[in-house]
Amino acid sequence: MDLGLVGRKAIVCAASKGLGRACAAALAAEGVELLITARGAEQLEATASDIRRMTGAKVTALAGDVTSKDGRAAILAAMPDPDILVNNAGGPPPGDFRDWDETAWEKAVGANMIAPIMLIRGVVDGMAARRFGRIVNITSGAVKAPIPALGLSNGARTGLTGFIAGLSRQVARHGVTINNLLPGQFDTDRLNTTLAAEAARTGKPVEQVKAEAAAGNPTGRIGVPDEFGRACAFLCSVHAGFIVGQNILLDGGRFPGTL
Ligand code: NAP
Repeated sequence: MDLGLVGRKAIVCAASKGLGRACAAALAAEGVELLITARGAEQLEATASDIRRMTGAKVTALAGDVTSKDGRAAILAAMPDPDILVNNAGGPPPGDFRDWDETAWEKAVGANMIAPIMLIRGVVDGMAARRFGRIVNITSGAVKAPIPALGLSNGARTGLTGFIAGLSRQVARHGVTINNLLPGQFDTDRLNTTLAAEAARTGKPVEQVKAEAAAGNPTGRIGVPDEFGRACAFLCSVHAGFIVGQNILLDGGRFPGTL
C-alpha cells in the first residue's frame, strides 16, 4: 500500500533506539524526510546513518533532551514546519508511590505530558494552515490498564491522553489528526531493563522472566519494534485522516477486554 507520504517531513523524538527508531525507519521507508532526536549523540548518529543506508531518506540527527525547554526549542528551530510529529521520550522509573516526591512527579509529568504538549503547540497551527498534519504520541498500555509499579507513567501519560482527547477534535477539521499509540511489551532496551529488574526481584533468571512474559501473551511472543513502527507510519498516512483522537493498543491482545 502506498501511504502517500513521499516528500513529507517528520520530527521523530527519542528515536536512536527502540520504538522511536522503529517509527523513524518506517516513515523513512515511505519516503519521509526525518529529523530524529535523542540525548546520546553517538547512538543517534549511528541510527541516522543506518536509516539513510536502508532507505535513502534524508535524515538529520539532532542530539538533545526533549524534556528540556532548550531541547524542544532546538528541535523546532531545526524543523519548524513538519508534516508529522512523533512524540516520544524515556519512561519514568518504576517504584513505590511513597517514594515519589514532588520532584519525581514534576519530572514524570514534564517528560510524558508537558514535553509532547509543548511540541504539539509548536507545530499544530502550521499543520492546520497547510491543511495536513499527523501527530502520534507514543504512550503506554499502562494508560488502559495501569501497572502499579509504574504509577508515575500511569498518571503522567493519562494526563496527556485527556488533553489529546480534547485537542484532537479541535484540529481535525483542518486536516490534522492526533492519536496515541499504546505499546504493550516490545523487545527494546527499556523492556529488557524492566525484565532484568523483575528477575532481580524474584531471583529468576532473566531468560525465564522473558519467556514467561512471551508465554503470557495471546500471541505467545513479545512485540517486534518494526511492527510498532509500521502501525505508526500507517497512522501518519493519507489513508488515516478519519482516525482522530484514538488510543490504539498494540499489545498482542494481552489486555483482556472486549473493547
Ligand atoms: P528504549 O529502547 O529505551 O529507547 C528510548 C529512546 O528514547 C532512546 O533513543 C533514548 O536515547 C531516547 N530518549 C530517552 N529519554 C530521552 C530524552 N529525555 N530526550 C530525548 N531522547 C530520549 O525505549 P522504548 O522501549 O523504545 O520506549 C519508548 C517509550 O515507550 C518509553 O516512554 C517507554 O516507557 C514506552 N513504553 C515502552 C514499552 C516497551 O515494551 N518497550 C511498553 C510501554 C511503554 P537517549 O537515552 O540517548 O536519549
